[in-house]
Amino acid sequence: MRALVKYGNKDGELEIRDVPEPKIGPCDVHLEVKAAGICGWDLEMWRHKMANPVTVPVIQGHEFCGVIRQVGDSVTGFKIGDRVVSETAAYVCGQCPACRTGNYNLCPDRKGFGYGVDGAFTDLVKVRQACLHHIPENVSFDHACLTEPACVAYNALVVLSRVLPGQPVLIIGPGPVGLFSLQVARACGAGPIMVACTSRANICRFEVAKKLGADLVIDVQKEDAREVVLGETDGRGCHLVVDGAGNERALRLAVDTVAPMGQITKLGWGPKPVNFSLDPLISKGARLQGSFSHTWSTWESVIKMIARGSIQMEPMISHRIGLDEWLDTFKAIEAAKAVKAVMQFNRD
Ligand SMILES: [Zn+2]
Ligand SMILES: [Zn+2]
Repeated sequence: MRALVKYGNKDGELEIRDVPEPKIGPCDVHLEVKAAGICGWDLEMWRHKMANPVTVPVIQGHEFCGVIRQVGDSVTGFKIGDRVVSETAAYVCGQCPACRTGNYNLCPDRKGFGYGVDGAFTDLVKVRQACLHHIPENVSFDHACLTEPACVAYNALVVLSRVLPGQPVLIIGPGPVGLFSLQVARACGAGPIMVACTSRANICRFEVAKKLGADLVIDVQKEDAREVVLGETDGRGCHLVVDGAGNERALRLAVDTVAPMGQITKLGWGPKPVNFSLDPLISKGARLQGSFSHTWSTWESVIKMIARGSIQMEPMISHRIGLDEWLDTFKAIEAAKAVKAVMQFNRD
């Protein structure tokens, strides 16, 4: 089968290769991929700028769904022909304190699809049953494959923050996870919801943010974002600030605009050190919280939100492509000319 394989540890060492079909064990299924989302993480792997080490060669792609084509002998609750979407934790140890308390997203031995284990930019993936969720009938494959980044937002805003109805939220970084954060905040009744962009400011993502119900978009390059946010919140700041950008400018803005007793939830990765004082967190009694990945109950909630339309996928999708168009699309995402791109497989 043809697959998009990262084969080396240098910028650009990614290409389509012929690879053998995976073999499944008793607790696995063969998932025939129908749709796979392209993530910022995939671009970082292509450019070899990831925060975590990667085993090569590896098939990229971790946001995916499809149809079960084969089931292992011990699989229960799923059968051939089922439409399913997969979580990203391809392997977790099952033994560590994180795994034993249901927080397997934080397992130190976790290996994700698309970097630790072969992923989904191909026809067929081996997936353990524990990763699977059924896709509701009214949700298309193109929409279901984007469940994962929506779960990243839900984990950050609902599981690890108290997003409150009627309370202001600032989301820094209008990338896909920022736009899903906006949707989750909105579904929870928070407001006003402000979306700020610290870099790569671009019209297309701001337009989508407005379409999805952002009350205000702030271009940090052009406006004094701190003034704007404080002006919108009677000088108090935001109950919740989501840092989806991960750079110094974003965290600084978050510290400046979080309300007393509020919370900053950091989602965006940024390997560079920051160079300013965090003391305002003390005087404001505010929290700084990290959020990584998600677990089963978040997936079940988010899938229901997608089926009910409280998380919208269609406005997020700017590109639908086949495997052969990967390079042009990666370049479009890099140039911030795309919002979310979906790769389609095994379509008749
Ligand atoms: Zn992703
Ligand atoms: Zn573990």
